[in-house]
Amino acid sequence: MKKNYIFFSILLSFLLVGNKVTAMMCCHAGEHHYEEKVGKKKAKAEIKESFYSTIYTCPMHPEIQQEKPGNCPKCKMELQKKQILMTYACPEEDCEIQKAKPGKCPKCGKELIKCEIKSFCQKCGEEVEESQLIKPKKEDIKLRSVKNEEIGKKVFCPVMKKEFVVSKKTKAVDYNDKSYYLCCGFCEKEILKNPQKYIIICPRCGEQVNPEDLKQKPIKSLKSEVPKEEKPTFRDVTTDEIGKEAVCVVMNKKFKVSQKAKVAVYKGKEYYLCCPGCDTEFIEDPEKFIK
Ligand SMILES: [Zn+2]
Ligand SMILES: [Zn+2]
Ligand SMILES: [Zn+2]
Ligand SMILES: [Zn+2]
Ligand SMILES: [Zn+2]
Repeated sequence: MKKNYIFFSILLSFLLVGNKVTAMMCCHAGEHHYEEKVGKKKAKAEIKESFYSTIYTCPMHPEIQQEKPGNCPKCKMELQKKQILMTYACPEEDCEIQKAKPGKCPKCGKELIKCEIKSFCQKCGEEVEESQLIKPKKEDIKLRSVKNEEIGKKVFCPVMKKEFVVSKKTKAVDYNDKSYYLCCGFCEKEILKNPQKYIIICPRCGEQVNPEDLKQKPIKSLKSEVPKEEKPTFRDVTTDEIGKEAVCVVMNKKFKVSQKAKVAVYKGKEYYLCCPGCDTEFIEDPEKFIK
């Protein structure tokens, strides 16, 4: 009877301690993430506001951006819809005011300018979009044992986000020419379950980055503002077009396309012009002819 009692109490305390340890581990990891998120939100709410805006851009010529669909004036490709993060920022380089609506800067009174917010890698400082970050798929990740020369190395566990020393029992995964070491069995399971949560790589420098830490910076130069298309651009006719019948937008008359004819690109649309005289007419006031 007494024996049984001792046995049970040992078993009981063992279970309790075991539970406590796992509970502590879970809470610890959970708390950490919670703190991180709250901290970020607070910092953002202070001064920085932003909003998403839809633009149309050419995959080959990212400098081409417009508010309406159309074709790229440079390569004629259909423009693709894209969401960009924008803000109204103070034009003063060192003023950090960002608002979701136009108006005056509450700090220095300057008129806020509409500009795009771009993200930059904390490690290399290069511009990188969140969608460009390299993340492994589940099938890319396989646990391996560590090699002798890796034992004793000081490494960083991507799950726990802390340093530890590689032991004989440590497991590692290889991805994108780099090795990642896991500090314990829990982290090994986690990385297999959710590799894209823990391994996130900058495509520019190949270093591990945290998407929340990408530095977001409004581009305050006028260039990043969505340009208004005001002036038409011109292109030469292609060999396929020569000999075809077209209507000159200025003369409003049919003509046979020759090598000398030009094509005007205006507001994403194309217009044939029969002679240099019509080119100059069109560039002066395109709106007059396109109705
Ligand atoms: Zn293009
Ligand atoms: Zn300001
Ligand atoms: Zn980088
Ligand atoms: Zn671990
Ligand atoms: Zn003409």
